[in-house]
Amino acid sequence: MNGSHSGGSVRTRVRIPLTFGDGYSTTAEAVTFAGLDDGREHLALILGELSLDRTPLVRLHSECLTGDVFGSARCDCGPQLREAVERIEGVGGVLLYLRQEGRDIGLYNKLDAYALQDAGLDTYQANTALGLPEDGRDYTAAAQMLTGLGLVEVDLLTNNPDKPRQLRALGIRVRETLPTGVHATPDNVRYLRAKADHTGHTIRLIG
Ligand SMILES: [Zn+2]
Repeated sequence: MNGSHSGGSVRTRVRIPLTFGDGYSTTAEAVTFAGLDDGREHLALILGELSLDRTPLVRLHSECLTGDVFGSARCDCGPQLREAVERIEGVGGVLLYLRQEGRDIGLYNKLDAYALQDAGLDTYQANTALGLPEDGRDYTAAAQMLTGLGLVEVDLLTNNPDKPRQLRALGIRVRETLPTGVHATPDNVRYLRAKADHTGHTIRLIG
């Protein structure tokens, strides 16, 4: 990461009606890009109205197959995604769906890490035990996508201090960070606590 990047260029814009499991529905404009740094097929979903006189609300969502698609309760990705879509739609902005499964260790490694977590390690210790980075995510492509969409200043929906830190280093103005809701369940509370304790995620957990 070196503080500058060339913007991705928009490849295709196409409207996609979305319907979630709880019945909430909206329409997104999906945007694909050419020239992204890591060569992956990241997707931007424009939700609500983007207007020049209002800073857009942006969420960087890392792909989580188990949580996003199958509703896994081991993490909070599914509810976070659902919340982000509605909140962004309400004020106008962009959800960047980043193909960084398992904090970028990949699906199989993530499931290996789950097995270690079942043996008592937390989400970060498990990655380390596998010889993998605790969080290997790089947001250069995200910055390229925002630049490609003509967005230089954003409000960021996140509890993760690394996201605004990286985006700022990449030249994106982050005006404000807005916390996401806490989606705690008996199955994911250890995972959430590890995030809060280990990396300074701003998550308020009871008890
Ligand atoms: Zn997840």
